[in-house]
Amino acid sequence: MPDTQPSFKHLIIIGAGIAGLCAAFYCRDLFDEITIFDPDPLSATSWVAGGMLAPVTESHFGESPLTTLNLEAARIFPEFLSDLQGVSGCTVDHQVGGTISVAKTRSDLIQLDQLAQYQLTLGLKTEKVSVSQLAELVPKLSSTLAGGYIVPQDTLVGPRSLLTCLGRMLEIFNIEIVQQQVLSIEVARDKSFELSLGPSGKVQASHIVLAAGCGTRSVPVQLPQLPHSSLPIRPVRGQILRLQPQAQFRFSSGVFIDKIVRGLVDGRPVYILSRADGEVAIGATSEEAGYNVANTFEGVFELMRAARDVLPAIMELEIVALESGLRPTSPDNLPVIGPLWPQLFVSTGFYRNGILLGPKSGALARDYFVSGNVETQYKIFSPQRFFNNSSH
Ligand SMILES: Cc1cc2nc3c(=O)[nH]c(=O)nc-3n(C[C@H](O)[C@H](O)[C@H](O)COP(=O)(O)OP(=O)(O)OC[C@H]3O[C@@H](n4cnc5c(N)ncnc54)[C@H](O)[C@@H]3O)c2cc1C
Repeated sequence: MPDTQPSFKHLIIIGAGIAGLCAAFYCRDLFDEITIFDPDPLSATSWVAGGMLAPVTESHFGESPLTTLNLEAARIFPEFLSDLQGVSGCTVDHQVGGTISVAKTRSDLIQLDQLAQYQLTLGLKTEKVSVSQLAELVPKLSSTLAGGYIVPQDTLVGPRSLLTCLGRMLEIFNIEIVQQQVLSIEVARDKSFELSLGPSGKVQASHIVLAAGCGTRSVPVQLPQLPHSSLPIRPVRGQILRLQPQAQFRFSSGVFIDKIVRGLVDGRPVYILSRADGEVAIGATSEEAGYNVANTFEGVFELMRAARDVLPAIMELEIVALESGLRPTSPDNLPVIGPLWPQLFVSTGFYRNGILLGPKSGALARDYFVSGNVETQYKIFSPQRFFNNSSH
């Protein structure tokens, strides 16, 4: 790797999940060289995600800034997919059948009604449907549900096909992934950066995107006014099951269900989705379990029970895998997107919406590196909110 001179623009991206890969995609023509550091690329949380692009069903009370960002992220997603497929020559699994949100009990339905009222005040499209309409929309649904909603806007992407396409894009643009962990970032006097690596020393960069997901906290940044600052990102575990339907349980198109089904079952949320290749996923728990990525009896049992109550036909399917991932989450549950220091852009804290937010965060990194600014509406997501004494 060449020594970085101030005039040589070398972007180092820390982390090869959806955040880091989308930063590489959007910044691919801005730098003399781009290098990604990740000891375990394309395999962490982004690899196990459900892949719902759900600005509507993921909008919750008190999260309107996030909903605005999610809506913008969903708006640019189709163009991003089209560009990515064009440059990589790969196909991403993207399904646009919408979401059906169902309630098991009267009390679950009251919760869905309250959420729908809130979503309508934000101008989001969600429509109440009767139990008989639900049976027409998704014939495999339980006949004892209390009611539900249809949300046409939410779509589904296959995270593995998406990451595979992004990996192919890296090869085409000669963006190298170095399988090493970054231990710290230091700001040098000439305003470039020095990154400490494991066994092989140090490397310099003129620009950085810090996108290390739940590893972000363990990459301290030594800033002149603020030695050893670490971003307070915590892991929130999500367990998910993958199942394979036999031929007799599929539509002629090969899928088990052609819409995302979200259930509220005795107060517990569950979702069931079907990929283009037929595989079905049941997700996902949301647990404060530290960095433990184990699947637990309770987590898997509760997901299976809730899925059965919503879609009884799922009991016939064969289990392929139990998986789990750690959602990178900030103290206020909002994403962390923006500069921490000039030319050091942070892209993390995506929590439940990281697949959706990946392209938008990459586009924001590009805009920042080009203009030196972040639009006012996105400043609420700045990493500087965690460092009151910072002068930037
Ligand atoms: C079960 C489950 C279901 C989900 N479903 C959805 C969904 O339907 N829709 C949605 O939008 N989102 C969903 N999410 C959330 C989404 O998956 C995450 O928000 C997103 O994947 C986070 O992406 P990331 O790139 O920040 O992190 P990651 O994918 O975890 O990538 C971070 C990378 O950084 C690397 N790294 C860490 N430390 C270092 C270091 N020191 N040096 C170098 N590299 C480092 C890691 O090895 C890793 O490869 C789900 C999450 C889970 C767990």
